Amino acid sequence: MPDGAIRPSGPIRELVIVGGGTAGWMTAAALSRFLEHGYRIRLVESDAIGTIGVGEATIPQIRLFNAGLGIDEDDFLRATQGTIKLGIEFEGWQAPGTRYMHAFGPVGRDLGLLPFHHYWLRGRQLGVADALGAYSLNAAAARGGRFRRGDTQTQGLPGLTHAYHFDAGLYAAYLRRYAEARGTLRTEGRITAVERDGDSGDITGVRLENGDCITGQLFIDCSGFRGLLIEETLHAGYEDWSQWLACDRAMAVPCASAADFTPYTRATARPAGWQWRIPLQHRTGNGHVYSSADMSDDEAAATLLANLDGEALADPRPLRFTAGRRRSAWVRNVVAIGLSSGFLEPLESTSIHLIQSGIARLLAFLPGDAIEASAVAEFNRQSAWELETIRDFIILHYKATARVDTAFWRRRRDMAIPASLAERMALFAATGRIRRDHDELFTEVAWLQVLVGQGVVPGAGHPLAGLLGDDDIAGFLASLKAAIDREVAGLPSHRDFIRQNCAAAATGA
Ligand SMILES: Cc1cc2nc3c(=O)[nH]c(=O)nc-3n(C[C@H](O)[C@H](O)[C@H](O)COP(=O)(O)OP(=O)(O)OC[C@H]3O[C@@H](n4cnc5c(N)ncnc54)[C@H](O)[C@@H]3O)c2cc1C
Repeated sequence: MPDGAIRPSGPIRELVIVGGGTAGWMTAAALSRFLEHGYRIRLVESDAIGTIGVGEATIPQIRLFNAGLGIDEDDFLRATQGTIKLGIEFEGWQAPGTRYMHAFGPVGRDLGLLPFHHYWLRGRQLGVADALGAYSLNAAAARGGRFRRGDTQTQGLPGLTHAYHFDAGLYAAYLRRYAEARGTLRTEGRITAVERDGDSGDITGVRLENGDCITGQLFIDCSGFRGLLIEETLHAGYEDWSQWLACDRAMAVPCASAADFTPYTRATARPAGWQWRIPLQHRTGNGHVYSSADMSDDEAAATLLANLDGEALADPRPLRFTAGRRRSAWVRNVVAIGLSSGFLEPLESTSIHLIQSGIARLLAFLPGDAIEASAVAEFNRQSAWELETIRDFIILHYKATARVDTAFWRRRRDMAIPASLAERMALFAATGRIRRDHDELFTEVAWLQVLVGQGVVPGAGHPLAGLLGDDDIAGFLASLKAAIDREVAGLPSHRDFIRQNCAAAATGA
């Protein structure tokens, strides 16, 4: 047996997915697509327990996931009541009355050695720069309610970068059809016991209420917050991040669609948290994320209901969570994917992406004949690092605020933050330089938009930007903005794009 191998077991070919929410069915779809030959993939879910049922806004990486499965974009949007997302608008985060967009895609155009924002900072000093968002095609198109796929008409402008809003339940159902058509075997039933090998402690099967036992060699825990295998059975432990991310509850409610059909998510700051708004074809998804130490559930529900675009279509549904991560996402022969592996509030729509990257990592570290301790350690190291960098990005939205209207916001502004984030903020504030570690999820341009949007704006950037003449800086910024405005004016509306390409049946989209 090679050093570090946990157990000799022969080829590991029998995979059991526990849970049929977004995580379970995304995993089943990907495994059935990429492990076509020689593997047996089973999924167990319980209709009686149900799924979390929220999770409707995504980031552009999901297009790679769908493309990897060979899914046609229009077919997918039609099936999931989907719409286009070009970014997230943050309202009231820096201070009441302020707004900025964290848009996908580039901002401005780099010149020579320097990223665009150094010229923008120089332009600000000279009084010739517009708001940062004016130089983002995505932000301008989002605000204008417009969208087109593919190349731009204006030379030198890259095309729009998009993600989706969709109905999470319909997406899971879509992927279920996909996975079952490729051989995934689904079992409906509530798991009431977990069977383990007496010697190794590995999980050998999950026993259902009706007595049946679903056996396997590798188990993917997609059972949601509870972590049926990874926590309740294997006690992986949980690292709690609520000292930085104090919101621990949400109320979610759908409402009738508004007249403006925005191709972006909106996140509006509230006295003890924030509210999301996600426009779908048939309805708008809304939710209020809040800190239970600062607001009662009744108040949270009332705030949510008082701030909807249209008539509420259900009663607000309460959800509870703790920000943090499972100490090890892979323990023995169990790999946690989805909410079972950790949770960050949906401020930057990262959870579904984390499912996707968890699946990619599982495929990268797929065991052959034995589960190697070194592979498990590396899987866990990468999973922890990924979540920590996203955590820092989310904390930034709370820390860099000038809001002082409630105790909640004052505490956020005054809290101690992880050193990793403090260093990034200090570097940018002093020099305009942005630190991005290796291939972390959020790009320099993402950090830039949120730093600036939250009010962290350095006085000066790179000294080389000052070598360009003042008139040249003004001309450069003005021509970029004019090109973006011209391009946006020629784009079809988002509503027309949906109507012409991917309208779901029986909607007035
Ligand atoms: C308030 C809120 C808002 C969110 N918004 C977004 C967003 O905008 N964008 C985004 O990317 N993500 C968002 N998320 C996260 C997103 O909802 C989840 O990442 C996603 O739904 C995956 O959930 P899951 O499949 O891991 O768990 P779940 O949906 O909880 O599924 C768990 C599954 O396990 C099964 N199960 C559990 N116990 C048993 C048992 N004993 N026997 C049999 N089956 C069992 C259940 O039946 C179910 O099928 C949000 C989350 C919350 C809480």
